[in-house]
Amino acid sequence: MSAKSMDELVSLCKRRGFIFQSSEIYGGLQGMYDFGPLGVELKNNLKSAWWKSMVYERDDVEGLDASILTNQLVLNYSGHEDTFTDPLVDCKSCKSRWRADQIGDTCPNCGSKDLTDPRPFNLMFKTNMGPLEDEGSIAYLRPETAQQIFTNFKNIVDSTSRALPFGIAQIGKAFRNEITPRNFIFRVREFEQMELEFFVEPGEDNLWHDKWIEERSNWWESQGVSKKKIRFLEVPKDELSHYSKRTVDLMYEFPHGEEELEGIANRTDFDLGSHSKNQDQLNIQSKIRKNSDSNSRLAIQNKDTNEWIVPFVIEPSAGVERGVLAILNEAYKVEKLEDGKERIVLALKPHLSPIKAAVIPLKKNNDDLVSLAKNIKDELQSLGKGRVLLENTGNIGKSYRKHDEVGTPMCITIDFDSLENNTVTIRDRDSMDQKTIQIQELTSYFSNFFK
Ligand code: ATP
Repeated sequence: MSAKSMDELVSLCKRRGFIFQSSEIYGGLQGMYDFGPLGVELKNNLKSAWWKSMVYERDDVEGLDASILTNQLVLNYSGHEDTFTDPLVDCKSCKSRWRADQIGDTCPNCGSKDLTDPRPFNLMFKTNMGPLEDEGSIAYLRPETAQQIFTNFKNIVDSTSRALPFGIAQIGKAFRNEITPRNFIFRVREFEQMELEFFVEPGEDNLWHDKWIEERSNWWESQGVSKKKIRFLEVPKDELSHYSKRTVDLMYEFPHGEEELEGIANRTDFDLGSHSKNQDQLNIQSKIRKNSDSNSRLAIQNKDTNEWIVPFVIEPSAGVERGVLAILNEAYKVEKLEDGKERIVLALKPHLSPIKAAVIPLKKNNDDLVSLAKNIKDELQSLGKGRVLLENTGNIGKSYRKHDEVGTPMCITIDFDSLENNTVTIRDRDSMDQKTIQIQELTSYFSNFFK
């Protein structure tokens, strides 16, 4: 069972320090959120899980961390300056502004039907670099991480000697001036993307596209997002982005409704072709504009035939914030206890939990207990599995409740038996079962749990 409403998640996130409204003390900044002490851990764990599965566990993907500020030419040749727009309408009565495709013919604010015709609104954040604010100093905050993967294509091929098929993965911030940011962290103006651009021989693209759709839905399942809540949406031809031959969106039932969690697009040879020099000497299949500025041939040579190929690209592109929201929604449970009370438990997969274990001395003022607890914390922390917390509140019941709510898989209690018999009590978050183990077994127990 997942959360009943977005409000429950928002409230938990604020109360326990996962996510805060950005600039809250000045009334907030719309479409921006800050990740607090537990949110940053959850987000980092999700990104690490993605990186592990996309880069470390494969032998055909390299990583990249490119700049956020992007040369105007990149986003010009990519088509973003011309086409990265949403349809904007004004309500003539109350002067509010909306995304036309989200509201129908009535203003959601005042109910008026007196709306302007939709006009394209470019979603990119523009800025100026250097001391002069003129047309020549324009740069953009990237609206997707993908473009700098394409512009680095030759650097990566040359430095790694890759042959097709292979991919380049990147995680990082992207910025979109959304007309109406909403639904908590679902639609925001500053977010992170986890993107893979997977380069394949033209003709093998359809096969690889299907493989990636399958891989990606399996991966979400391994993060705790039930396959039952994911639907594959074939994006209709007339709604495809300018570069796409086919896009399948993984649609998830968020608390506010079903929406896109990840998009998996066949970007063809559009991007490499668009950013390449000497385009007419290459066999580029998509419709591109002539590029008179690039100094690089973005193609790869077939080692057997010596032929230059502009690869097709399959792109699984996921949002970190939407991932966090889906994962929180799936993990959130309200359970009835035997004594008639309720508990909130965040049944996160252990690798995603912000705190891996809480070490709790029975009494907060007992030096022997606290010092043993501290040693155990240090020992477990040094295993590199993530954050281990010394929870020295002296209130075991309250500590259990807190750690249930933030998804800590295990609580380790240090009591007088620990001093006398070298044992600790481990309490399991999901079953609430408690068991006693020897302190010398704790390291291997903990390591095996987070394998
Ligand atoms: P939508 O149709 O919901 O606006 P999109 O089709 O524009 O999304 P893509 O361009 O495919 O999104 O971006 C890839 C991924 O980046 C999305 O699947 C989503 O997870 C994430 N993403 C895109 N825009 C936002 C946003 N404003 N806030 C949070 N995440 C976003």
